[in-house]
Amino acid sequence: MPDDIPTSMEDLLYFSNRKMPDGVRIIAWVDKLTCEKCKKALMGKPINEKTGKVKIRAAVFVCPECEHEEPKTAHTKKLVMQIRYTDETGKNWKSAQTAYTLKTWKGMKAYVFQNEFTGEKMGVTKRLKMKGDPDEK
Ligand SMILES: [Zn+2]
Repeated sequence: MPDDIPTSMEDLLYFSNRKMPDGVRIIAWVDKLTCEKCKKALMGKPINEKTGKVKIRAAVFVCPECEHEEPKTAHTKKLVMQIRYTDETGKNWKSAQTAYTLKTWKGMKAYVFQNEFTGEKMGVTKRLKMKGDPDEK
C-alpha cells in the first residue's frame, strides 16, 4: 500500500477505498483546501450549530476560523482528487489526479482518470452496487 494514504477523514472532503471485481484496488480522496483569506484553517461545509452536524447540501464552503465563504461551484473547481490504484494483481500501485467533478464513464457517473497500466480511462464511480464496498452502507 502507498504510504501517503490519509489515515483520518478529518481533513478530507471525500474518501473511498474499494476493490473492483477484476482485482484492481482504488483508493481516492480529496483534501480540504486552506482558506485563501486567513490561511489558518481548512474550508469545509458549514456546521449546523444546533446539531453539530455538517450541512452536506449547503451551497457554500466556509472557513471555521474567519467565516470566509465561497460558493460551492467555485470552490469545487479548485479541488483535486488524489487516486492510488493497482493493476489486476492488486499489488503494483500507481498515482493519478483528477478533477473533483463527476463525468459519464461507461454509462455511470464517475471521477475519471487515466489508468497507466491499461492505457484506458478508468472511473471511480459515484456508487458501486457491490457487496462489501465501503461506500455501500
Ligand atoms: Zn479563513
